[in-house]
Amino acid sequence: MAKLEVGSLTTRDDCVALDANDVLAPLRGEFTLNEGEIYLDGNSLGPVSRAVLTRVNEVLKTEWGQGLARSWNDAGWMEMPTRLGDRLAPLIGAQPGEVLVADTLTFMLAKLIGGALDQRVDRHVVLTDVANFHSDLYIVQAMASRAGRPVTVKAVERGALERELGGDVALVMLTQVDFRSGELLDMKAITKMVHDAGALMLWDLAHSAGAVPIDLSGADADFAAGCGYKYLNGGPGAPAFLYVRKSWQGVLENPLPGWLGHARPFDFEYLYEPAKGMQAFVTSSPSIIALAALDGALDVWDRVTIDQVRAKSLALTDLFIELVEARLPGVFEIVTPREHAQRGSQVALRHPLAYGVIQSLLERGVVGDFRDPDIARFGFAPLYVRYVDVFDGVERLVDVMDAEGFDDSRFATRRPVT
Ligand SMILES: *Cc1c(COP(=O)(O)O)cnc(C)c1O
Repeated sequence: MAKLEVGSLTTRDDCVALDANDVLAPLRGEFTLNEGEIYLDGNSLGPVSRAVLTRVNEVLKTEWGQGLARSWNDAGWMEMPTRLGDRLAPLIGAQPGEVLVADTLTFMLAKLIGGALDQRVDRHVVLTDVANFHSDLYIVQAMASRAGRPVTVKAVERGALERELGGDVALVMLTQVDFRSGELLDMKAITKMVHDAGALMLWDLAHSAGAVPIDLSGADADFAAGCGYKYLNGGPGAPAFLYVRKSWQGVLENPLPGWLGHARPFDFEYLYEPAKGMQAFVTSSPSIIALAALDGALDVWDRVTIDQVRAKSLALTDLFIELVEARLPGVFEIVTPREHAQRGSQVALRHPLAYGVIQSLLERGVVGDFRDPDIARFGFAPLYVRYVDVFDGVERLVDVMDAEGFDDSRFATRRPVT
């Protein structure tokens, strides 16, 4: 990152200069953001863009409003899951025809886990990360218990994965960027290690899609899934995406079949016969309004590359870490790795009163979030977060820590969403 004085702390003026030279700066105007507010929670829910408003309005007024049931044919509604999958494919290093957009992430994981377990019937273990997101842990246990043979889920420490990767492991399921710490895993090296052990690899890309360059093809990953509402800005509860490598298509079975994944849905046949390609992973009617929102949200990717986004993401997180360390020495443990190759697009600060810190920041117009038990989490979405936002955000964090209001008793009870 360019600093005006070598060795000195980045100033607010430096940040203004960095924003003025930022190739992504014009994109901020595409998003609806509250004046004066610093939004560092795009890793949880991205903001709405102009293209989303336009696209959803068009669906409501014209496609649904006037076209009604005709729009299933005339507006290409049936093709939306595969068309949006193809739009998303370059962002995750997939080929056209390898990605589908439907359901939400946990459902997609269920389909992939269930399908994958049927491909390794002589093996009885699923390996995952004990720090994985709880929904991933719940669904993998549920699918394992319904595998039709005894299958044990082993949730282990990340460092123990290699040791645990024995000949009885059918599937390894990992989240590429840790939702708490922001640690980024080496997709290529891990996938190779898993394949060398004869197991299949499923990646959860919830915190990496739209934030870090992903090369599923290059890593030879078998399966992947991720959600549409974090860095992809598809809206609350946006549809998820699912990736099945070409060579698995026609082999991997959808354990949750439905009429729209049938080869001939409108023949209303008694027996299920899967459609060709990714369509087989569709279960039910596409959620058209939600898909339209995600469609609009993807427009921005016609104007930027993920490499531009990654470069700015690292600069923003570097700056945040630098300022927090300089302005608040010893106050927080910085949990997120310093090494660029191991960092996603968020920074996690550990503090015993992290919930109160996040709530006090909210009162000062900085939106981050809290992850139990002691993590204050800040996401840096380069499409709309500026360098000055990082600077001002840290200044407000300094105010919070100086004022000590974060230990107030009104923060003793947590709100339902933290
Ligand atoms: C956000 C997130 C989810 C959310 O799953 P939904 O089914 O879409 O609610 C699941 N897993 C991980 C790792 C996440 O980060």
